[in-house]
Amino acid sequence: MQFQNYPYAIFEKKIIPLEEAKISIMTNALHYGVGIFGGIKVFDTPDGPGIFRLDDHVSRLQKSVEFLNFRYKFNAAQVKKDILKLAKKNKIQAQTYIRPIIYRSDTRISPAIEGDYDLAVYMLAMPGAYYNYEEEGIRVNVSSWQRNSSLAIPPKTKATGGYINSALAIDEAKKLGFDSAIMLDKDDYVSEGAVMNLFIVKEGCLITPPADSDILEGITRKTIFEIAAEAKIPFKEAKVSKEELYSADEVFFCGTATDITWCSQIDDKNISKARGPLTAKIESAFSKLPVQHKELFTVVN
Ligand code: PMP
Repeated sequence: MQFQNYPYAIFEKKIIPLEEAKISIMTNALHYGVGIFGGIKVFDTPDGPGIFRLDDHVSRLQKSVEFLNFRYKFNAAQVKKDILKLAKKNKIQAQTYIRPIIYRSDTRISPAIEGDYDLAVYMLAMPGAYYNYEEEGIRVNVSSWQRNSSLAIPPKTKATGGYINSALAIDEAKKLGFDSAIMLDKDDYVSEGAVMNLFIVKEGCLITPPADSDILEGITRKTIFEIAAEAKIPFKEAKVSKEELYSADEVFFCGTATDITWCSQIDDKNISKARGPLTAKIESAFSKLPVQHKELFTVVN
């Protein structure tokens, strides 16, 4: 997928033109995947373009850095300030996707965690839906690739190196004619989509796999809990077997880039012919957040 980039980036502590933000082929992170990244979206709010849950995203970056022992002095207030400064410099609009990355930037040849780190940020326009399947829903397979376990590459950290796991699952799915994939955890329970969290609906209750099913604890997923609580829709975190997945009344995915995307088919099983009623309710409430929950947005002006 190719999107339009904004002209400026943060690189080596400065705002510079994106085309000048270049790294050496010897960069450690390029070889060993020693990095963590984020994905943050900007929505249209009544007060102008607003960054959705900036605090949560920055806090997840900080927790990842700390959990993985990256030798990077993370200053959350400074990172937020820098992102806002770049957003202003780029004169961003709604539907912008912000990509911060903290990576091992030195060129020494070893897969150690100890080393130098840099924060880079760039921004791109992401108009419209990531999956263009408003009417048909997406068709996915259950991957033959297992989700990285928390004892391998901790999935809660959004580590760059971990994403070869997602890439393999997506590649297999596409070769088999599906749009994306669902991954199982080490115990064969449902974990999540290759790059998004997953909810099923069973007898009017929203169910999503818990943290110990090796998921990334998505910020959109957390928002859906809040929407469900406010709308008095029952929801719970619980292990989901493949059998429960196949027999769900509704299945949908959620994530920053992908928003809420309903699923029509998993492997050879039809889930639903149209977006289910609870999925539609959650989607509608999600689209109203910029008006009804202004506190979740940091307006760029
Ligand atoms: N799982 C994975 C593996 C992801 O890459 C993403 C996208 N960041 C998500 C879940 C959804 O997380 P969020 O809602 O925070 O974007």
